[in-house]
Amino acid sequence: MSHNVLMKTAPLAPGFGNGGVSYWYRALGRPDAWEPLPGSRTADVCVVGAGYTGLWTAYYLKRARPDLRVVVLEKEFAGFGASGRNGGWAVGEIAGSRERYAARHGRPAAVALQRAMFASVDEIMRVAAVEGIDADITKGGVLTVARNSAQQGRLAALVEESRDWGWGEDDLVLLGSGERLRVEGATGAVWSPHCARVQPAALVQGLARVVRALGVEIYERTPVTELRPRSGNVPAAAVTPFGEVAAEHVIRATEGFTATLPGHRRDWLPMNSSMIVTTPLPAEVWKRIGWEGRELLGDMAHYYMYAQRTADDRIAFGGRGKPYRYGSRVDDAGRTDRATVDALWETLTGMFPAARDAAVEHAWSGVLGVPRDWCSTAVVDHRTGLGHAGGYTGHGVAASNLAGRTLRDLVLREDTELTALPWVGWRVRRWEPEPLRWLGVQAMYRLYRVADAREGRKGATSRLARVADMITGH
Ligand SMILES: Cc1cc2nc3c(=O)[nH]c(=O)nc-3n(C[C@H](O)[C@H](O)[C@H](O)COP(=O)(O)OP(=O)(O)OC[C@H]3O[C@@H](n4cnc5c(N)ncnc54)[C@H](O)[C@@H]3O)c2cc1C
Repeated sequence: MSHNVLMKTAPLAPGFGNGGVSYWYRALGRPDAWEPLPGSRTADVCVVGAGYTGLWTAYYLKRARPDLRVVVLEKEFAGFGASGRNGGWAVGEIAGSRERYAARHGRPAAVALQRAMFASVDEIMRVAAVEGIDADITKGGVLTVARNSAQQGRLAALVEESRDWGWGEDDLVLLGSGERLRVEGATGAVWSPHCARVQPAALVQGLARVVRALGVEIYERTPVTELRPRSGNVPAAAVTPFGEVAAEHVIRATEGFTATLPGHRRDWLPMNSSMIVTTPLPAEVWKRIGWEGRELLGDMAHYYMYAQRTADDRIAFGGRGKPYRYGSRVDDAGRTDRATVDALWETLTGMFPAARDAAVEHAWSGVLGVPRDWCSTAVVDHRTGLGHAGGYTGHGVAASNLAGRTLRDLVLREDTELTALPWVGWRVRRWEPEPLRWLGVQAMYRLYRVADAREGRKGATSRLARVADMITGH
């Protein structure tokens, strides 16, 4: 993000934290990493990556078949990746384009995927309740606001399109400005009930605890350096510096880090997203803002924002940070540059002027995985013994739960409603080699920013955003 000289400088709270994985761990306490893999072993299923995808997969496999030996290998600690850093929207949105799934598999299949995604929000809440995971979960739905006439037009189109797909007032409803919460300059909003707020790190840490208690072995500080397919009678394996785990199935659940694995550099583009959190806002500020329902909040800008009111009454606010690092390099420390912090603060206080007296307590970033066609996948190949799920493009909190249940059925070779969903077995073409990949993503972000600025001035939807979408296949 380039630093605009007119941009406001964000006030930083004393003890401001930058990176350190995320604010969510500062609030929760950083877990001690468990032991690395003590040496080579065998398993029925080996999962690589202990984020939501890997842990949900392990959870559902072990619940379905307690006799299975499931091993999870994690390069840092469980919840180190996007699962411990995200905006906490467990949102029932398809992680991909409904139209693209429908074009390939027919409309009923795309509708089934959408319904399954809606249901995933409740499934996360069910498991959290049953297993005693306390992750500040509240199903307040999601509010999407428009702040100029171009955005308002897109909002109206969104409602019309969702009616075409058969979603009624129960799924998406058009609101006037200021209903539920007051956003400066809002012209209107839509609200959908299919979203719950979570404390992301509490969810992933809770899951890790439950999965361990079920008998899954999670080895941390264990980087996997190679995924080896089955060859004749030699089973598939995950190779690490401490030995290898040979298994009937090896599942890759590495999302935004996938590009660091040999042979997978151009599968999913590691896209950065950044967040800030404010100091707690006093009651009189909340009286002016509203937000009593703890809805998740997003907007219709191309360079969009996402936010939640946290359980301890702060605003956690995210958006696109420095979007992408040349050569798919992954900045995993979560440190965030000053220009991004200032830009997020400017948008936050532009939407909530009443929060101006607060300060930024913490800033962090993380990576998400973006496939070339922006459509997520769940795949198990019984021939090679390898499988994977992900490419959620920033919608993985709920989608990873659906992925975990789907991978369970695929591994167990059960034909179910889940294995018939259109994202199963979806293959996408790879991203272009550098420098095209870097240039394309830079162009997309630049065009989105210019399009938003033009729409703010002129009110009409900018064609530049369409051009940006065409370049990157969004
Ligand atoms: C800032 C930010 C905000 C977001 N906000 C939202 C949101 O509000 N709602 C939403 O739905 N989605 C959001 N997302 C996306 C969402 O967090 C992800 O889609 C989801 O967490 C993906 O889970 P995962 O388990 O697939 O990947 P991750 O959580 O990234 O887990 C992958 C794990 O694999 C490990 N790993 C990587 N390589 C190796 C290796 N070689 N060997 C061993 N282990 C390895 C990593 O250390 C990591 O722990 C956000 C993402 C970011 C970064």
